Amino acid sequence: MYKKIIYKKAYRILNTSTPLNYDCGILCQNKCCKGDNNKGMILFPGEEIMYANKLFESKSFLAIEEKGFCNSKVLFATCRGKCDRNLRPLSCRIFPLVPYINKDGFLRIINDPRARYLCPLLTGIGQIKISPFFKRDVRKVFQLLSQDCDIREFLIKLSGVLEEYMRFTGTGIDTL
Ligand code: SF4
Ligand code: SF4
Repeated sequence: MYKKIIYKKAYRILNTSTPLNYDCGILCQNKCCKGDNNKGMILFPGEEIMYANKLFESKSFLAIEEKGFCNSKVLFATCRGKCDRNLRPLSCRIFPLVPYINKDGFLRIINDPRARYLCPLLTGIGQIKISPFFKRDVRKVFQLLSQDCDIREFLIKLSGVLEEYMRFTGTGIDTL
């Protein structure tokens, strides 16, 4: 029940908060919604509770499946490239930002290094900048969510994956 309450709050905060004050999909023909059946977005721990009754009704998702991630199992949702915005998962709501917890346990919101070559908002083309209000709202969401032990544990694992990715691609932490 607690998770449902905090995810509802998180969804509400990010319902109208977006990277730009217009639809950034027009810059790139919605690149981040062009997944296929094999790709998908991670559901954060317990987030599936938000889809308990609405999943197939909404026709937003193809499936929610368990996959391996960081020596544990997480749920991934795959979609048709179109969805009911009110039901989009947290991963979609925060893209192209991501929470990162450093070795000192400090939470930051950074540009997702995995999106660096996909999202025009991170390549600096046309000097378009992500809204500071969006970043503030994403931070607010993860300050709330990281108080939950399962979610915090997951965020620490995710941060390890992000560090690996940055090491592999020779990039550093990229903030706004
Ligand atoms: S890839 Fe970036 S610019 Fe394109 S729709 Fe997604 S968030 Fe917006
Ligand atoms: S669920 Fe919606 S926002 Fe997320 S990738 Fe699919 S179409 Fe895009």
